[in-house]
Amino acid sequence: MHIEFHGAAQEVTGSCHLVQVGHYRVLLDCGLIQGGKYGEQRNAEPFSFDPKQIDAVVLSHSHLDHCGRIPLLVKRGFKGPVYTQKVCREMCGIMFRDAANIYDHDTKTLNRKRARKHLPPVEPLYTADDAEKALKHFQPMAYDVEDEILPGIRIRFKDAGHIIGSSIVELWLEDGKHRRKVVFTGDLGHSDAPILRDPTPIHQADVVLMESTYGGRCHRPWQESMDEMGEILNDAANSKGNILIPSFAVGRTQELLYLFSENFDAWNMGRWQIFLDSPMAIEATEVYLNHCELYNKEAKQRVLNHESLDSLTNLRLTKTPEESMALNRIASGAIIIAGSGMCEGGRIRHHFKCQLWKRNTKVLMVGFQAKGTLGRQLVEGAETVKLWGETISVGASVYTVGGFSAHADQDGLINWLKHFKKQPKVVLVHGEPGAQDALQHEVGNRLGYFPDIAKPGQKLDLIRMSYDNAENQAS
Ligand SMILES: [Zn+2]
Repeated sequence: MHIEFHGAAQEVTGSCHLVQVGHYRVLLDCGLIQGGKYGEQRNAEPFSFDPKQIDAVVLSHSHLDHCGRIPLLVKRGFKGPVYTQKVCREMCGIMFRDAANIYDHDTKTLNRKRARKHLPPVEPLYTADDAEKALKHFQPMAYDVEDEILPGIRIRFKDAGHIIGSSIVELWLEDGKHRRKVVFTGDLGHSDAPILRDPTPIHQADVVLMESTYGGRCHRPWQESMDEMGEILNDAANSKGNILIPSFAVGRTQELLYLFSENFDAWNMGRWQIFLDSPMAIEATEVYLNHCELYNKEAKQRVLNHESLDSLTNLRLTKTPEESMALNRIASGAIIIAGSGMCEGGRIRHHFKCQLWKRNTKVLMVGFQAKGTLGRQLVEGAETVKLWGETISVGASVYTVGGFSAHADQDGLINWLKHFKKQPKVVLVHGEPGAQDALQHEVGNRLGYFPDIAKPGQKLDLIRMSYDNAENQAS
């Protein structure tokens, strides 16, 4: 009985851990490695295990860094079921189809360039057809229902409050006389965030695999961010331009719409025309609208009062490219929410091309902007940016509203750990080394024990509760 760490060990993408009980092998997540060319190359490499030998996948949520390689796993011979929460399955449909479209487009562009150099064509990571095949393997489950998925392996999903349908996975493992309970956090949500519930507290486990994305810092308080947002909207209205908001299609976009609705009067939202200009975000918003049973108490009440996501009377959904292009003709009074979140692709780049040079344009950043992205260049005050080879002067004002995050911060992670009645063995995954070191130290300070930090390829023996092929990382 053991766990091997095949991804998201000392990094934040490519979540993938292999649990073995007797002859049975279960993958916890099978995510894409994201970040630059090197990440793309690593995704195409063979898996560090044989997909044919995996009996089942247990999936925490529908972000691509957790689910994005499942179509590839199926393409390479995985035949078993993928267990996940039922709304997560719906979301995976949206994510896989979108990813397959992007691969198709990018591969065609690349192959045209390769042809001009007499190089052979390359294949996309997976196609729309592979995505559909993978979705057939999904076996949706409800939250809070315990199920035996293989002899000696029972699982239960608990709401992680990170995005809709996201789960903390509880696993009860049994091999002969040995029994262990493993808890895999997936990504833990940000407490007190709009719409979703807080991450479910868990009280007992032998081993906890815990994400540590924001292990090194604390988010800005919600109220401060809300006040700031109100001020920026006022400022923008006074300068009589448009507001461009690059936004992640799943989670952040729905939070924004919810907050616009919640603060409709306070922020004088009636003076704006709001456009949701992203087909994927529109689909994801529909899933949020159809599943208000998963909302927190306050958000449920707002649905009953007709004050939720769908109550924004000035919201327009622009699905087609033609509708999107028509937005270029609006000189002022428009809030345009478009992907991608870090401005690396999607329709936001077209809006930048048309509007970034104007001095009365406002760009509002509500998400993390990674190093090397166009979003980061703007946040760092670039005077010009390049779009499709053309240099564009940045006349727009760029604002960043901190405090929005779908992840628990350091306090959130430690508070969640406090719910365990007896100290479990905590192993940190899904975090950069700096954040993990900080969290390890802080858990030591506040809870009196030190989590381990999973290393790539490391194997944790669940019977002896020690690592087979590397030293224990606790210090
Ligand atoms: Zn996530």
